[in-house]
This record gives sequence, C-alpha cells and structure tokens, in this order.
Amino acid sequence: MSLLATAIKRSSFRLFSNSITKRTMHIFSIPMWEGTGNNYAYLVTDDKSKEAVIIDPANPLEVLPYLKDKTDSGDIKLSKIINTHHHHDHAGGNAEIIKYFKLPIIGGKDCDKVTTTPEHKSTFNVGDNIKVTALHTPCHTQDSICYFFEDGSDKAVFTGDTLFIGGCGRFFEGNATEMHKALNETLASLPDDTKVYPGHEYTKGNVRFAKKVLDNDAIRRLEEYAKDNKETQGKFTIGDEKQHNVFMRVNDPNIQALVGHDEPVQVMKTLREMKDRS
Ligand SMILES: [Zn+2]
Repeated sequence: MSLLATAIKRSSFRLFSNSITKRTMHIFSIPMWEGTGNNYAYLVTDDKSKEAVIIDPANPLEVLPYLKDKTDSGDIKLSKIINTHHHHDHAGGNAEIIKYFKLPIIGGKDCDKVTTTPEHKSTFNVGDNIKVTALHTPCHTQDSICYFFEDGSDKAVFTGDTLFIGGCGRFFEGNATEMHKALNETLASLPDDTKVYPGHEYTKGNVRFAKKVLDNDAIRRLEEYAKDNKETQGKFTIGDEKQHNVFMRVNDPNIQALVGHDEPVQVMKTLREMKDRS
C-alpha cells in the first residue's frame, strides 16, 4: 500500500471512529409544577437520528407545547413515553399525551396505559446510539424502574422517586431492605461517572436533613451548589451520591453511631424514619 493510501485509510478510520464515539445523547429538562411538586420531565434525544423519548411527562399543559414545537419543526421524532413509576405526578399525563402522539408507553405494571414493562436489566435502544437498561428498584412503589442511558462514554440514570440528589423517595409500597438494595446494590453498581436525573428538585431539603446526620466535605459542597442553583439535576453523579447522600452511606461509622445501628438495613430504616419526621 502506498504512503498516501495508508494516510487516507488512517484518516478515514479516524473519522469513522470519531463518528461512533461522538456524544449524541441530548437531555433536556422540563420543570413541572414549579414551586409545588417541583417535578421534572426529561426529553432525551439521539441527536443523529433525532429519535427521542419523553420521560414522565406528567403535566401535559407544560410538556405538550414543547413536544409539539419540537416535532413540528422536525427537530425530534418522538418514539416512546417512559415512566419511572405509576404515581400521578409521573404517569398521570400519559392518557392526554397519547391523544396527540401515538406512542408506546414503557413503564412499571401500574402505570396508566402502559404497553410494555421491561424486565429487570433488559435493554432497548433510542436511535442508533443510545442504549437504555431498565433497572427494577421496587420500594417507593413496587413498579419503580430506573433507566440507565449510555451513549459511548456519556452516561445518565433517570431515577424517578427512588434516588434524589442527596436523598431518596419515601417507602410507600416497600421497606428498608428494598431501598437498601435499590440504592446500594442496583444503582451503586452503575459507573461512578453516571449523571443522576431524579424525578423532583428536592436537593435543598435533602441537604438540610443530611447536615443533621453527617458532616463531610461532599455535603458542604452540595449545600453550596444548591444555595446558588435552582436546578441540580444532571449536575451530580452516582460517585457524588456515594459521598453526599446519607442513604448511600449506611456503612459510614459516624452515621451508624448516630442512629445506634451498624446493620445497613436498620440504618436505612432509621434514617428514613428520621427524614419522615424532619
Ligand atoms: Zn412517586
């Protein structure tokens, strides 16, 4: 092979490898019920194919105008509704949304109008580049599912009301054993650089509670960030949660001393009871 041909081959290989590793996952947050529920819906788009999914579009009044605008302009091709759990402020918009967009609904078994409930650890794709893994995390509700999105090295997890930045959801349909498994086995096993996108903006309240339980640099950093920023979704990772989220620090000796238990599930149970009373 001539030198020139080798150079061309190298550069085309480089082009090709760039194109397959280039980040194309685009995440857009849509705040809903700001000032009361402080929920988030998320539109995730594979920029290359324009295929998009909408996660927990619970308030159609706030979400539909945006979806119509983006589809009418050809910016996105909406392919699915995804629900993290059946609660009305997450799945309650499905019926209205499907009047305008004929979409399958991926979610837990109790979600309104659900068409498919993915198995634990099963996968599906969004466009050519994004791989989604469904992770069953029963506790807040029995049908809670977190969704791990990967686009090359870009990683995000949509956690509904299971994991919040600096906190976790209430145990409405489950117990401490289940939340311990959800947070400290299932979600903790994701790569540390996975960005966390929860169902609500609850960070300020979570930091207030965390400070009563533990004093560390990560909690102080989170407090500073929440003081200066109204929105915290996507700004912290699973690795950060392991440092600043007291529900992911059930093995921390300082927390164990405070709650008077050293068994992780008991620590989880006591922390949640304290938070519920706070
Ligand atoms: Zn909920």
